Amino acid sequence: MKQLAILGSTGSIGVSTLEIVAAHPDKFRIIALSAGKNLELFARQIRQFRPKLVAVADRDDIPQLRVLLADQEVVITGGVEGLCAVATADNVQMVVAAIVGAAGLVPTAAAIRAGKDVALANKETLVTAGHLFMELVAQHQVKLYPVDSEHSAIFQSSEGHRSQDITRIILTASGGPFRETSLERLKKVTVKDALNHPNWSMGRKITIDSASMMNKGLEVIEARWLFDVPPEKISVNIHPQSIIHSMVEYVDGCVIAQLGTPDMKAPIAYALSYPARVSSGVKPLDLTELAGLTFYKPDLERFPCLGLAYRAMGEGESMPAVMNAANEVAVEAFLEGRIGFLQIPRVIEQTMDNHQPHRLSSIEEVLEADRWGRDAARNICASLTR
Ligand code: NAD
Ligand code: MG
Repeated sequence: MKQLAILGSTGSIGVSTLEIVAAHPDKFRIIALSAGKNLELFARQIRQFRPKLVAVADRDDIPQLRVLLADQEVVITGGVEGLCAVATADNVQMVVAAIVGAAGLVPTAAAIRAGKDVALANKETLVTAGHLFMELVAQHQVKLYPVDSEHSAIFQSSEGHRSQDITRIILTASGGPFRETSLERLKKVTVKDALNHPNWSMGRKITIDSASMMNKGLEVIEARWLFDVPPEKISVNIHPQSIIHSMVEYVDGCVIAQLGTPDMKAPIAYALSYPARVSSGVKPLDLTELAGLTFYKPDLERFPCLGLAYRAMGEGESMPAVMNAANEVAVEAFLEGRIGFLQIPRVIEQTMDNHQPHRLSSIEEVLEADRWGRDAARNICASLTR
């Protein structure tokens, strides 16, 4: 029986994780849960899975949750300390890190410091603080399992192989809802258009990141740290069908890929049950039902965010954290209708142009760079007219 804590249980990844847990009560047990908003759903999850400890992001929400759970025996906490308490709870073996954004950084670091294995969905953690995280993982000898479908595919395609034999990692990208949209038309797309992803159902922030292709940029940086591969060995192929989740190329010219129906429950199940495999409820793949699998190079002119992520990764130090912060601010501004879709990369680029990268040697310094990036990006957003 594996005992789990989930950070971000009410989100898209959190809900899918709980579906897998519910399907395997003999294999997984929930000890602790945390959520941001959506207290009604959170209360229902707590009734169903009966964790000992729960936390809400905002301490002001504690009284309302207490009312919703008046008849339940559960310790309710909140704030960053509460999230860290969930991440470090006694008897928890694995923490599923499924908070969105840089907010996941501190509790995920706390989990590692407490010796918990981590199933990592929160890619922003590795983007902002990759070197520090990988150092922490090594220092505390915990296991880090990727949940992101591309990274799960790379993990599965590189198992049993020597890392020095890898010549290239090829991340696949669906291309999102605007794969074929002209630059002219991209200026006018709405929030609704951008939230309409063709293949994946996900949280709002990552769905916008997928439309701008910043998601792929974040994933390139995530892969760089997870698999210790230099930037020049990571490439991106657009693959509209999202059937091949990513590939690894070796010195002998062989390429190993992982395929499956696009459903996050597959990589989540693998991270939870590794090295065993358990049923995930994902629809079996029938290749004969598909018209074909196609691949082509991304267009950096229409999707500048991908180029910005490569630039941030190349400049290194505090630049990826600043880029990530600017992206979070710009995506929020877009979702609230304050800036247009093509202004997202402009906000990020201007923030990066104004930043002098410096070395980050602690999580506190990462958080400082994150704050700097947010402030700078907010000012730029405010100065833009739609
Ligand atoms: P989501 O928005 O659906 O859920 C986020 C969860 O985090 C919710 O439980 C929310 O209440 C909580 N949360 C939000 N802000 C918080 C804060 N400041 N403090 C504490 N908790 C907070 O997001 P998601 O789509 O499930 O994505 C979660 C993470 O997984 C992201 O980093 C995303 O990039 C990554 N990811 C998601 C998918 C997917 O299919 N959804 C795929 C790959 C990777
Ligand atoms: Mg992904």
